[in-house]
Amino acid sequence: MAEEKIIRTIDLRGKTLTRAELLAAVPRAQMGVSQAEELVAPILDAVKTRGADALREYAEKFDHVRPHHLRVPKDAIQNALETLKPEVRAAIEESVRRIRAVCQSQVPKDFSTPLAEGARVSQRWIPVERVGLYVPGGKAVYPTSVIMNAAPAQAAGVESLAIATPPSPQNPDGLPNATILATCAILGVDEVYAVGGAQAIGMFAYGAKGTEPQDGDVLCEPVDMITGPGNIFVATAKHMISGICGIDAEAGPSEIGIIADSTAKPAWLAVDLMGQAEHDELAGAVLITDDAEVAKKVEEELAERVPRTKNAPRMTAALTGTQSAIVLTDSLDMSIDVANAYAAEHLEIHTADADEVVKRIRNAGAIFRGPYSPVPLGDYMSGSNHVLPTGGTARFQSGLGVHTFMKAVEVIEYDEVGLKALARKVNDFAVSEDLPAHGECVLTRFVDDTYDKATL
Ligand code: NAD
Repeated sequence: MAEEKIIRTIDLRGKTLTRAELLAAVPRAQMGVSQAEELVAPILDAVKTRGADALREYAEKFDHVRPHHLRVPKDAIQNALETLKPEVRAAIEESVRRIRAVCQSQVPKDFSTPLAEGARVSQRWIPVERVGLYVPGGKAVYPTSVIMNAAPAQAAGVESLAIATPPSPQNPDGLPNATILATCAILGVDEVYAVGGAQAIGMFAYGAKGTEPQDGDVLCEPVDMITGPGNIFVATAKHMISGICGIDAEAGPSEIGIIADSTAKPAWLAVDLMGQAEHDELAGAVLITDDAEVAKKVEEELAERVPRTKNAPRMTAALTGTQSAIVLTDSLDMSIDVANAYAAEHLEIHTADADEVVKRIRNAGAIFRGPYSPVPLGDYMSGSNHVLPTGGTARFQSGLGVHTFMKAVEVIEYDEVGLKALARKVNDFAVSEDLPAHGECVLTRFVDDTYDKATL
């Protein structure tokens, strides 16, 4: 029996593909949001109807611990900060400093456009009032997701921030991971829940009533918007509650796409594919190259390196899954077309002229230009945000940023002169749509002692 390959090859050389064929050819996970809906629907329903009781039951079932406190006490958050290793604290503070600098540049500007005498339209950006931020913590813990969620929300001016992250089975009292709690303290967030998965999304969407004395009557007030990455259950739950409250991009299991030509270093490509495959059995790792020799060497590097790494079983599952592949193309042009169809959450560019390729990328959550901008830099502290759209949704969605937490509201300011100048035209539209009452709204304002309809 032939030995199973560490990653499959999709050979597109010599093929001319239509848009639909190209979209169908790019690798995707078999378990998507729609398949997980059946599992998630009863969880959301239970949280909606039974509040804290359901949250405790799911913690026991999925996280294997019963949290003493679903709402993490403030002194536990402070204690976590006090016991944080200094070098980890320094790394967190550097990451916060960089992302805050980028967030400041992201704050959108209000504007006001004068259109004619007495006629002006302005736009104000208003922050969302209350948001729920999800910080994953199942297979791995993601303190950086606290930073990536909270920093842009704070820069946007969000008043009320709550964080949910799974209770940790390593802590007998079910407190979440200490580094996550310490990062909450550094960011100044003190409303933290030891609740993970789809149930956390349900808690944020519907709010939750307490059922034990330490919960209080209202455990968690509902939020206006939920953001943050997570596994397939979290992503599915966010998808299902969107409409009840807002969500950011669907940031599900991680993905890396890499465009490489003959100048790329195979060992560097291999470790970068492995870095994202380490996240989740459903993580995707896709190399797109027009150089068959590079492809062969990367495959050899993977076969040699993967068995030696700590998270080899998870990584092997990710690399051998349908969502991962080496895609062979005829040319750099074709590689760019494939990358745009794949719309990777993270796209690395390892080519002779990286700037030229960057210009031609239309679809990616974030672009990592050149061999010294690897994805883990962005995962932790490049200053960019790591909460990014997955599963091809980068074709129409952006990653998390200050804009995510703000809404644009237009203010329409016409005075008597400005409205009178348009009265006849507005009425003409109203008549053409057979909505005469619309026209009357304008005409009535001018048909009184001062004006006569005929003069308009
Ligand atoms: P997680 O916090 O997302 O999920 C853990 C929770 O999943 C548990 O608390 C549990 O409630 C729930 N769960 C586990 N098994 C379940 C089951 N069988 N049925 C229902 N619910 C179940 O943590 P994780 O699992 O480590 O996943 C983190 C994910 O976040 C990874 O896929 C990683 O790639 C992804 N991620 C994505 C981004 C992004 O921006 N796209 C960034 C960081 C991390």
